[in-house]
Amino acid sequence: MLVLVINCGSSSVKYQVRDTAATGEDAQVIAKGLIENIGGAEIPTHTEALHIMAEALVEPLHGKTIDAIGHRVVHGGEIFSEPVIITEDVITKIDELSPLAPLHNPAHVLGIRAAQETYPGVPMVAVFDTAFHGTMPAHAYRYAVPEDFYEQYGVRRYGFHGTSHDYVTGIAADFLGVERSEFNGVIAHLGNGASITAIEKGACIDTSMGYTPLAGLIMGTRSGDIDPSALTSVMIQNPEITAEKMDTILNKQSGLLAIAGNNDMREVVEAMEGGDERAKLALDMTSYRLAKYIGGYHVAVGGMQALVFTAGIGENSSQFRELAISRLGALGIKLDAEANLVRGDEPRVISTKDSAIPVLVVPTNEEKAIAEATEALTK
Ligand code: AMP
Repeated sequence: MLVLVINCGSSSVKYQVRDTAATGEDAQVIAKGLIENIGGAEIPTHTEALHIMAEALVEPLHGKTIDAIGHRVVHGGEIFSEPVIITEDVITKIDELSPLAPLHNPAHVLGIRAAQETYPGVPMVAVFDTAFHGTMPAHAYRYAVPEDFYEQYGVRRYGFHGTSHDYVTGIAADFLGVERSEFNGVIAHLGNGASITAIEKGACIDTSMGYTPLAGLIMGTRSGDIDPSALTSVMIQNPEITAEKMDTILNKQSGLLAIAGNNDMREVVEAMEGGDERAKLALDMTSYRLAKYIGGYHVAVGGMQALVFTAGIGENSSQFRELAISRLGALGIKLDAEANLVRGDEPRVISTKDSAIPVLVVPTNEEKAIAEATEALTK
């Protein structure tokens, strides 16, 4: 089946056409691309962007037609706990969830509408970044704040990167030869955004991102967890820092960037190796925060059968993995230094044979997961 996977942001569209019947990643990916600067003079709306995409797909498709379209949608709120066929009602609900994801959900609606115009009659599926976390129990997703916050504003933990955590959980269980429904593990998705998920019996029981993707781990430009009173205190002391400004500071000017002066993990590691004290502090903070979460989630899942690293940093930064794993001695986890240096697209073990808990690297593939979910609902 030929599935077009679309990820619409407010000013960009990322797309990929996948042949789900082909074998291997290279054969599956028929075409991919990124269209930016939507809203500018040349590409005023998502409709023009999708026309440009459709034009670019003519040649690689060789006359074949798209069978189905899968849309990545950031927020499914408490409504969507699995992928769904897109109907008018679904579009309305995605739009109604916009207060929870003001930058993303309105853009998804524009993208879905534009796709309907460009590919009339082609079935479409929405795959939600939050959906996999729908199995969290209330004691993990509720915040201890007045009930109104939850009832009126939907303030609770939702979690993100769900498509990736779900996909990697399935691959890890398979790799270990464990039934997914019997698999307890901890998945660390460490990319530009980073989150960690506690998996019990193959399902999510806790995750580090919260009401928004700001919470939890220290990321490239996001602070992760912080005492909220520190923020209100700064805002009271300096009224020029409005809520919007504070939001920008925490999301775009914090994390590795704030401490090390750079948000690219490769460069921060290089700087540390060259003796840069700020880079060292940033990496110490980031790996320490991650190790605390791993310890906590090990307890949450009743003892993990594996710790799994994925995404840009998790898959590629042997140095960062080493820093994090060096803090896990109390769990009897031992890194195999040589295995840790191996690179590749396949799942692999990076712990020693006598490590109390195996540590894996499992490459993630959100487009593949979205294409498979789309196929499952439309074939
Ligand atoms: P993602 O959001 O999953 O694409 O991950 C992006 C992050 O992965 C960036 O912080 C990059 O610095 C990091 N990254 C990608 N390749 C490498 C690498 N070879 N070594 C260290 N970090 C990497």
